Amino acid sequence: MKEVFPSYYGKFKCIADKCKHSCCIGWEIDIDEAAMDLYQSLSGELAERIRTNIEGEVPHFVLDEKERCPFLNKNGLCDIISTYGEEALCDICYLHPRFSHFYEDFTETGLGLCCEEAVRLILTEKEKFSVSLPSSVRNDGFFKERNEVFEILQNRTAPMLQRFQKLAEKYGLKFDFSNDLLYDFYMSLERLDKSWENELLKLKEAKGKAVFERKDLQIFFEQLACYFIFRHFKNGVGFALLSCWVIGEICAECRSMEEMLDVVRMYSSEIEYSEENTEKVVAFFRKR
Ligand code: SF4
Repeated sequence: MKEVFPSYYGKFKCIADKCKHSCCIGWEIDIDEAAMDLYQSLSGELAERIRTNIEGEVPHFVLDEKERCPFLNKNGLCDIISTYGEEALCDICYLHPRFSHFYEDFTETGLGLCCEEAVRLILTEKEKFSVSLPSSVRNDGFFKERNEVFEILQNRTAPMLQRFQKLAEKYGLKFDFSNDLLYDFYMSLERLDKSWENELLKLKEAKGKAVFERKDLQIFFEQLACYFIFRHFKNGVGFALLSCWVIGEICAECRSMEEMLDVVRMYSSEIEYSEENTEKVVAFFRKR
């Protein structure tokens, strides 16, 4: 089956031991059947260690007391890859941070913003976001409409604030939110990382729309919005608008691009990678 990717996709490479927020820490990894069969069939010391570190009805690796994957060694590298190669990884580890949307005769695959290298790659890219769809679907309702949304967001003759407002108007919405209300709402969601609460506190100090007019952040917000549309368009444009607003308000307090990229990474881990939180954000917007 044909698989299509955003133009930046091929540039991604996991930075492994250089990663400060490794995906091998804090996530419970479920192991698929094929990987389980492989782990049962291997012999040797590591194979034995793999088998003793799997538990549960839905088999998963047991994290250590610091919530680290037991195969993430002290050099920040994965013992399974070092010994058996990437092919021996379970699907979740092998595919992360990739996500896919499956359509009738093709698949769209992208990179998720919960990975610090993917977030850097996606949000510092200067070229406009693009994905080359099969010609058979370009005029299809869903993809045609999504392309119209990309065109609004990528109209670089207008400031980003206007682009967000135009998009909101197209759907009978407003790109304007009460940060106090948003603070209460985001604090009511399930949280993975305690430090996310400190980031949310910045919403209380935030000053509204001005951040979306900052010249140095135009491409950052354009790429961010296009990512959310690419990944979540089936949920409507509300998820993208609200997510960009919250991230923008928090980032207004950041002193460097590095800090901003970290806010996005956290937002993605906290919200996008929790099905329940994503659903609540979508529902929150619909209720307004
Ligand atoms: S978060 Fe990204 S860069 Fe870091 S270890 Fe995972 S895939 Fe690699």
